[in-house]
Amino acid sequence: MTFTPKKYFGQHFLKDSRKAKEIVSFLNIGKCDKIIEIGPGKGALTQFLISLKADIKLIEIDADAIDLLKNQFSNIEIIHADFLKLDLNSIPWKKYSIIGNFPYNISTQILFKILEHRDSIQEVVGMFQKEVAERICSEKKSKKYGIPSVLIQAFFKCDKLLDLNENEFNPPPKVKSSVIKLTRNNVQDLGCDYRKFVEIVKTSFSQRRKKIKNALKKFTNLSDSNLDYMMSKRAEELSVAEFIELTNIIENSK
Ligand code: SAH
Repeated sequence: MTFTPKKYFGQHFLKDSRKAKEIVSFLNIGKCDKIIEIGPGKGALTQFLISLKADIKLIEIDADAIDLLKNQFSNIEIIHADFLKLDLNSIPWKKYSIIGNFPYNISTQILFKILEHRDSIQEVVGMFQKEVAERICSEKKSKKYGIPSVLIQAFFKCDKLLDLNENEFNPPPKVKSSVIKLTRNNVQDLGCDYRKFVEIVKTSFSQRRKKIKNALKKFTNLSDSNLDYMMSKRAEELSVAEFIELTNIIENSK
């Protein structure tokens, strides 16, 4: 059975099965043998996942793809759901890894959901729009360093592993793609209030060209020599550790 790719579900199917095999090989199965695939589509990655010694769950939104997957992979659990709406706490696994050639229209939302459930996640091997992948993995002082870089890197080691051209998909997307791997680090507790940290990172980057002294105006009238030093920089010059320090100084000054 075949079906016409649906644009509204961000369907771009990987053509080359060698690339699919390579992407699956990035998972570190020794460390975690429970895997969730988001958006398996026609099973390009799934066909290689099933030969791993791992428990697998597929989460797919498209009923047509579900029919196809059920025929092809009768032994694995296939959940017909919108990943963004699915309650991940209903998954009975303590730790799992996530893989997927993510639909680009919701890739940032997928990322934020991953961040929310970070303590259940061992690693993520994901295909993103190249530009988004680079933003996630960027280091400070790069133009691409921003909110997702700081928030994700606070909890995950980020590596860009593979670039793919438009013509490696059917239909070809308008943008280039990259596969990245996020590996959960050992940080359980950031060392500062997480909600405040998110607020400060977001506010700092909201005016990324200005010194953060200006971006964080509502928090200023503080005197601390460390704070002066950081406040005279721009958001893109601060490391994750410095954002944590900044959050603590601001919190402790109340
Ligand atoms: N993994 C396949 C398909 C990638 S295309 C391949 O590499 O060829 C993206 C897939 O995500 C499609 O199958 C699409 O139906 C599915 N998808 C889109 N939005 C989704 C959502 N909110 N929840 C779960 N799956 C979704």
